Amino acid sequence: MTALSKSQSVDESFLTGGGEMGVLIRSIDWSATSLGTPEQWPAALRYSIGMMLSTKFPVLICWGKEYIQLYNDSFRPILGIAKHPNAMGGSAKYTYSEIWESIGPMFADVMNGQSVGSTDFKVVLDRNGYPEDCYFDFSYSPIRDEKGDVGGILVICMETTDKYHAIDGFQAMNEEMTAINEELAAANEQMAATNEELASVNEELLATQVSLSRSEKLFRSIALNIPNALIIMIDKDHKFITIEGDIMEKMGYDSKSYAGKHPTEVGPPERYEASRHLYERVLNGERFSVPRKSSTGEDYMVHFVPIKNEADEIDAGLIIALDITDIKQSEEKSAMLAAIIESSDDAIISKTLESKITSWNDSAERMFGYKADEIIGETIYKLIPPDRQNEEPQILARLKSGDRVDHFETKRLTKDGRLLDVSLSISPVKDSDGHIIGLSKIARDITEKKLDETRKSDFIGMVSHELKTPLTSLNALIQVANAKLRNSGDAFLEGAMAKASMQVKRMSGMINGFLNVSRLEAGKILIEKQPFEIKDLLQEILDETKLTISSHVVNTSDCESVSVNADRDKISSVVSNLISNAVKYSPKGKLVQISCRVSGDKVIVSVQDDGMGIKPQDLDKIFDRYYRVETDHTRHIAGFGIGLYLSAEIIKRHGGEIWAESERGKGSTFYFSLPIAG
Ligand code: ADP
Repeated sequence: MTALSKSQSVDESFLTGGGEMGVLIRSIDWSATSLGTPEQWPAALRYSIGMMLSTKFPVLICWGKEYIQLYNDSFRPILGIAKHPNAMGGSAKYTYSEIWESIGPMFADVMNGQSVGSTDFKVVLDRNGYPEDCYFDFSYSPIRDEKGDVGGILVICMETTDKYHAIDGFQAMNEEMTAINEELAAANEQMAATNEELASVNEELLATQVSLSRSEKLFRSIALNIPNALIIMIDKDHKFITIEGDIMEKMGYDSKSYAGKHPTEVGPPERYEASRHLYERVLNGERFSVPRKSSTGEDYMVHFVPIKNEADEIDAGLIIALDITDIKQSEEKSAMLAAIIESSDDAIISKTLESKITSWNDSAERMFGYKADEIIGETIYKLIPPDRQNEEPQILARLKSGDRVDHFETKRLTKDGRLLDVSLSISPVKDSDGHIIGLSKIARDITEKKLDETRKSDFIGMVSHELKTPLTSLNALIQVANAKLRNSGDAFLEGAMAKASMQVKRMSGMINGFLNVSRLEAGKILIEKQPFEIKDLLQEILDETKLTISSHVVNTSDCESVSVNADRDKISSVVSNLISNAVKYSPKGKLVQISCRVSGDKVIVSVQDDGMGIKPQDLDKIFDRYYRVETDHTRHIAGFGIGLYLSAEIIKRHGGEIWAESERGKGSTFYFSLPIAG
């Protein structure tokens, strides 16, 4: 193509304007083309070009059989970088060779007078150096000349590739979106499933948390409710997991929170150092206990227990410290008591309320001959002689009613059949609520003592008996001498004889007393009963007393007439003894009152004095053999402590009772009762 010279231009008004493409068209030497110079162009073509250049729509004109092309600025982009500017003035067949197969026939149809058009028509154009899917809305219409023949084609063409791509992209996007949506839905489902899983895990976690906090609370309350305890859990690094217990502070841990802390963070390093090897041992799986003594004297027992997890691995150590001070002390106390019991010379036996023997010390073994293992579990009746078997139920009854049985003298049987004299002290063993759960019995072997007493009593009996013979002779001699002296007028001798007679009487009174004791002990005392009026006996004694006692006023009150069946002499000696004591233990000039009264089927005789009285602790002992109250007041008063003993034995043998009421410094009243003769 060559440039068009200005001189050649004719009416080229149709070629004005048209922007860039207008400039290009005008610069082309059209004479070199089949169109020839513009002035030669048919009017229809010129007219069409004028319209083309002035329209904003993409327009292409293909003229003649060669489809020589002319196009405007709006069409130019359709041609890409490869087809423009050669397309201007070039053949469409050549420009669109790659799509000619599809558009060529349509061009031919238009040349035959038809109009052709389509929307979103796809062609693969090679306009930028590579094949490209392009879409167009187009209309091909014939351009007719004055004769009505079709000279060329008017192509109005809108590229819709972008729109198409947009739709395509949109579709793709839609598809993608759907896919994404599907994916999202799937993900959603998965999420929902995960959510459910999470929810259930959450529930499980919550439940675990609840049960954990419950276990923790339980642990705390267990730890707090074990009295005198400290419970520590440590992890593998020796850090405290938990620490609780009522002796925390006592053991040097204050009440702050220790959880998660290392012992060195919360306490003195020495304490940790002292315990470190123990922590290591327990975390190595060893279970053991160590006794500990605190500087303040408390005793502790510390137990170490390894704790395993589900995988059977040790992941914690449990340390339980118990304050065993009380236990230790009571152990020591029981050990001491056991030693005392074992070393005691007395047999110490415990038994159940059903009389089964439950403990037996060495002395019991020595005394009765049974070894502990052969007698424990056996009945106590094995030790009781056949004629004394009823003693046990009586003792039990007394103990059950709350009494103690002290110094009960009886006989017991040894394994080899010997009879032992024993003194029993039996006391109830009570539990912490005060219920009697058993009995403890201390048996003292008094066989030797008894033998001694018998020997002594035999000796006293013998001596008294021997003394009695010369005394009787002496008495007889004094009586005779008295009779002879009566008329001698020797006042001194008379007085001396009367005093000698008195002293002999006293002496024989004493000797009789001893004789009676030894007789009593030998079981030789005889009670010879006969009915008599108690009133008469008292009067008789009073009369006699008035003759011999001048130091005191002895009185008797009116007595009912009652008869007793008793040994008159012995009852007389009881009353005389009570009067003589009243005189002995009260100051001169005081009144001694003898009374008697009937009470039910008994007569009660009493002797009252205004003397020194007797202390309560002596009251029940004064009836014991040889018992005398030792005070500054009594020391100078002669006596052997056998008068009341004999009196009591005599009264008991009559089925009566004897007792005393007294107040220190105010006097005493002695009573005895005897059954009234029926
Ligand atoms: P004895 O008088 O020979 O010592 P008893 O057996 O008659 O022996 O009395 C025992 C003890 O009881 C006496 O030693 C005395 O301490 C006390 N006793 C007896 N009777 C009286 C009394 N009436 N007043 C004060 N004490 C008495």
